[in-house]
Amino acid sequence: AKKKPVTIVGLGPMGRAMTHAYLDRGHQVTVWNRTAGRADEVVAAGAVRADGVADALAAGELVILSLTDYDAMYAILEPASAALSGRVLVNLSSDTPGRAREAAEWAAGHGARFLAGGVLTPPSGIGQPTAATFYSGPEEVFTAYEDTLKVLTGTDYRGADPGLAPLHYQIHMDMFWTTMASWLHALALAGAHGISAEEVMPYAADATSIQQFLAFYTPRIDAGAHPGDVDRLTMGTASVEHVLHTTRDAGVDTALPEALLGVFRRGVAAGHGDDSFTSLLEVFREREA
Ligand code: NDP
Repeated sequence: AKKKPVTIVGLGPMGRAMTHAYLDRGHQVTVWNRTAGRADEVVAAGAVRADGVADALAAGELVILSLTDYDAMYAILEPASAALSGRVLVNLSSDTPGRAREAAEWAAGHGARFLAGGVLTPPSGIGQPTAATFYSGPEEVFTAYEDTLKVLTGTDYRGADPGLAPLHYQIHMDMFWTTMASWLHALALAGAHGISAEEVMPYAADATSIQQFLAFYTPRIDAGAHPGDVDRLTMGTASVEHVLHTTRDAGVDTALPEALLGVFRRGVAAGHGDDSFTSLLEVFREREA
């Protein structure tokens, strides 16, 4: 089958990597970016520079958006909304599930179909089938463009509700940012004692041990069971206190361990001291009054 032309709107690091992935696979790629100069590099590689947003939309049915957020999409497409009819918008910009649902209705109002996406890889993973992107929106639209979308990364279709891809993406980001922040905090503590990031690396990257913890506790969590047979929240609380005290003694910022200790203490105060630390899920389920 003939390769579908692709329009890419937004040429940050992600949009540029996506443009290269399609060019490498022989697609005709039309690009548009607010700051026009950012297109120079991909145009030199073979992409077509659209003179305006309407031209970018006219170049083909499939329009991929790679922008900071959904506000950027409206800022770009609203002035050219007459050119949206018949297009398939695939928004790979991150935002909330609610924003994606609104956008699907907005697109339908202009005669366009809409898929939301959440990309789970940095620019270096674009073009790699082992990387993944969540998609949501009408299944027939996803199916019609699946092969073309697979040029970017593997696809993980989550369902017809357009909010589902952003929801799964935000669940992932919730883990990602807290994990990355805790890593940096630990490196600040290590650095205060002359220990380099390199020296911490084998322990930081101990994914096997993390996976064993997750695999052990996941069925218990889905069963609503938090027995204190292998760990107790009181033990976890004392352990977090030790982290906080070690941090304080090193003269390192204590905001993260203090926040963590606050959560652990709320769990103990709620009567979970003899349960596993996984009982903190009950603390997280309700927003603090
Ligand atoms: P950038 O923030 O670098 O790219 C932003 C793009 O949005 C640029 O093209 C910028 O235009 C445009 N933009 C922002 N605001 C406006 C506006 N008001 N009007 C018009 N254009 C606007 O993002 P990335 O390329 O890094 O990422 C794109 C998306 O992919 C983001 O949603 C991000 O969360 C997600 N993502 C990024 C990853 C990464 O590692 N970078 C990994 C996974 C997902 P201009 O050039 O004119 O400023």
